[in-house]
This record gives sequence, structure tokens and C-alpha cells, in this order.
Amino acid sequence: MADDARGPVLVTGGAGYVGSFAVRALRARGERVVILDDLSTGHRAHVPEGVPLVEIDLRDADAVQAVLAADEFDAVLHFAANAYVGESVREPRKYWENNVGCTLNLLGACLDQDVRRVVFSSTCTVYGEPGLPSLTEDLPVAPVNPYGRTKAAIEQVLGDYGAAYGLRSYRLRYFNAAGAAADGSLGELHEPETHLVPLALHAAVTGAPLRVFGTDYPTPDGTCVRDYVHVEDLADAHVRALDRLRAGAEGAALNLGTGSGTSVREVLESVERVSGRAVPTIDAPRRPGDPPFLVAAPGRAQSELGWSPAQPGIDAIVASAWRWHSRST
Ligand code: UDP
Repeated sequence: MADDARGPVLVTGGAGYVGSFAVRALRARGERVVILDDLSTGHRAHVPEGVPLVEIDLRDADAVQAVLAADEFDAVLHFAANAYVGESVREPRKYWENNVGCTLNLLGACLDQDVRRVVFSSTCTVYGEPGLPSLTEDLPVAPVNPYGRTKAAIEQVLGDYGAAYGLRSYRLRYFNAAGAAADGSLGELHEPETHLVPLALHAAVTGAPLRVFGTDYPTPDGTCVRDYVHVEDLADAHVRALDRLRAGAEGAALNLGTGSGTSVREVLESVERVSGRAVPTIDAPRRPGDPPFLVAAPGRAQSELGWSPAQPGIDAIVASAWRWHSRST
């Protein structure tokens, strides 16, 4: 829990989607928080009142050093990253420089300032295309695109820094983050938007057809199966990981998913149920690099963090996203 004697938590990317929910969760338990975000993809409007926003570019190593030196940070939650798979294939330099380069600056400053607790946003993309119905953390890390490779590389850096310098970390491998605050006050706002749930809501509202990427996968209905996890549950896992690090845990790589898979068509049915509108679709070719199944075996996060999703089930996730979408459009 929060402790007045403790320094603030630095949240990089705290104006972004998952980061802004983590900031909320930390604030709700009375933590002091400082957000570091260059607002290249984050939103100033998602920064709560009273939370300092340091608007710098993590590529600027001197500026990062200065931020870490300016306070006695208790821990870092590191969300800031570029996260479009397709863009990473076209512009790998951007991904290596922004994701890995920036993280090296950040972790270097952490070491210099003796900040030894890090919770890192990783992704199930590090598993590549494992061809299994359920994924455990013991599977080989074998990403198939530059985005996944940058996240896997950062996990390795964290492992090395842990072994050599005692920097302890949780590497949280998100499955498909989705959903919004129950009251519609905070949610997903990507530019451009590529994710299924917000695009399906958009299709329901506008009537513009959604492209279904691949209808001939070896899955029950031919469309890709993913593990959709509520963004508030992801935020909760970060808070728990922070507490575990404070309690002296070594850290680990952990899957954050519900353990149950939902196909693209099932997501669209949920959107229709929740919104009461039809979602027009067009069958489209497979999107390169989309495996048929990505579903977590979530047991390790449960045993390590005592975490399990409080809001599992696609309808609950879609209903919250619908409220946000209805308010923000
Ligand atoms: N998808 C789709 N049409 C879209 C966007 C996504 O059929 O317009 C599919 C995509 O191929 C994948 C699933 O929806 O199987 C989830 O995609 P999303 O981009 O939301 O997340 P990802 O799984 O790529 O992280």
C-alpha cells in the first residue's frame, strides 16, 4: 500500500492507454505518481489533475537522467513504447531506437539513481506464432516481427540487469488489452486505431464495414482467436507487481490474460449484443503475422501476484468500451 515516506512511482507512457489506467489505480490507493510522456501517442486529457506530467522524449538520455535525479523514485512502471506491428516491419529503426534505445536510457538512469524496481509492459507477441491453444511462460521467446523483437530484447536486458545489478523486474506479457472505465470516463484512443474492439464499435455506429482479417484459420469459426483482457485488470496486475517487488520478490515474466479465447466473430457478436446495432463486415485476407490462436495460460500470474481478472468475459469488456466510445465520439 501507499506509504508517505516512500518516493513517487515514475510511470512512463502514463498518458497512454494501459498506462493511464495504471496511473488511476495507483492514485486510487494514494500513491504519489509522476508521469513521463512525450505525448506522441498519449493524451494530456488522460493525465489526472494533480499528477505531474514531465513531457520529455526518452531518447534524450540527459533529460531522462535529470528526471530520475530530481526525486527519490521508488519504482518505475515502463509503458512508453511504439506498438504497431505493421509499422515496426516498415520502420524497424523507429522501433529499435524508441523501444530499446529509450529503455536503455531509462534503465541506465535507474541504475545511476539506485531505483531497483521496474514493471515492464511486455506482450504475448514475444511468443511469435507458437501454434498452441494456450501459452505458458516457459515457451521459447520467438517473436516474428520487429515490435515483438524489441520487447523480447528489453526483457533480456532486464534479466541481465537483474542478475548483475540487482534491478528487479516484472515483465508483464499482455494478451489483448481492451475495455474502458465502467463510467465511460477513460478508455482507448489510438491514432490510427487498428484494434478490433474499437473498430467494431465504430462500424456499429457508422455502418462502415469492418474487415475481418482471415476467415479460413484452423479455428472453430475460421477467424482468429485472442484472449481479451480488461484494461483495468491489467492495471491491477501492475499494482500487484509493484507490491511484490516492494516485498522483495525477484520478479518474473508473467502472462496477463484470462485463459479463455474469443474469436473475431464472437467479438463482433458481442458488439452487436451490447450496442444493439449490426456490425457490417467484409471478409478480407489474413493480416500478415496474425497467428490463429493467442490465449494465455494465466496460472503463473495468479500464483505470483494473486492476480486473476475481475472482469473476464467479452461482454463486460465490450460494454465498458461501448460506454467510452459513446461518450468520446
Ligand atoms: N482484426 C480484424 N479486423 C480489424 C482489426 C483486427 O479482423 O479491423 C482481427 C485481427 O486480425 C486479430 C484480432 O482481430 O485476429 C485482434 O486484432 P487486434 O489488432 O485488436 O489485436 P492483436 O491481436 O493484433 O494484438
